[in-house]
Amino acid sequence: MSKSSSRQKMAYGLIVILVLSILVMALPKILPKKDTPVTPVVPAVSVDVPAFSGDSAFVYVKKQVDFGPRVPGSPAHKSCAAWLVASFKKYGLTVIEQPFKAKAYFGTLDAVNIIGQYKPELPNRILLCAHWDSRHIADKDTKDQDKPILGADDGASGVAVLLEMARILQQNPVEYGVDFICFDAEDLGDERTPSSDASIMAQSGGNTTETWCLGSQYWSQNLHKPGYKAHFGILFDMVGASGAKFPREGISMLKAPEFVNKIWAVAAELGFDDLFVNTPAGQITDDHYFVMRGTNIPTVDIIGMPKSPPMFGDHHHTHFDNLTIIDNDVLRKVGQVTATVIYRAAAQLR
Ligand SMILES: [Zn+2]
Repeated sequence: MSKSSSRQKMAYGLIVILVLSILVMALPKILPKKDTPVTPVVPAVSVDVPAFSGDSAFVYVKKQVDFGPRVPGSPAHKSCAAWLVASFKKYGLTVIEQPFKAKAYFGTLDAVNIIGQYKPELPNRILLCAHWDSRHIADKDTKDQDKPILGADDGASGVAVLLEMARILQQNPVEYGVDFICFDAEDLGDERTPSSDASIMAQSGGNTTETWCLGSQYWSQNLHKPGYKAHFGILFDMVGASGAKFPREGISMLKAPEFVNKIWAVAAELGFDDLFVNTPAGQITDDHYFVMRGTNIPTVDIIGMPKSPPMFGDHHHTHFDNLTIIDNDVLRKVGQVTATVIYRAAAQLR
């Protein structure tokens, strides 16, 4: 190795060091600062929707039915109320009990709406509701018409969907408030005044439908929080029977069509369009009507009407509305559609 080549090497080395030093000094100007907001090319909207368990929902139906008919004022009703409150609390909800006197056509009964609030501090909210009472008579049965029904589908199935949703929300938290309302005294109505009628709106000046849905009527006039608002609501009524079909109920289509469309589109996407059918149905006097009348929260009634044209199933208001007609898979599909709607709505807020 010659002297000249080692001097040359030293010069190259100096140049390399100089260039590197310039680069190091210039780096902060070339690279963005750490706190510079970076706009992603593709917005990160990946939504993981947890699995809704139909088996778990079935257990909640069974538990309610095991209490016996939950007619307001009865011991079974009282025990079930205590269990509902405890269950909601177990799933981390803030619970409000709203007792009231249900003035039925045959007398006045002690009733209570049970409200479970998920993240009550959040302003963005969804309302999920069902009725938790069961009918005091089996007026559509051929025998024991004066005895109360178990209401496995008509009552317990909707509440079961709420409970399972509360459970999966606790396990898979979202930044969205959800209010679970179990309305009482929905099913004490006088069948001689229509519970399902194609012209409820036309009749709403009269009182022909007001013997039904006493809990939602009370709540809508005595909101659990003054000025309560939710972006939208879903009512679950008879959502667990084998062979169920959910047509597009008339009042929902009139007052909340965009949410009906959204929910039914999600169902179709999940492959459940055999259940969530596109058939229009008549207007049903149900809790969603009174929720909307009192609050204007657009509320969709997912209600089992398996016949063609849409009508309630044969078990409706009979003693056949028991555990044997409940299908875990129907509960699962209703719940999975609802979970998808909720988790997507929450993702859109991010
Ligand atoms: Zn009913």
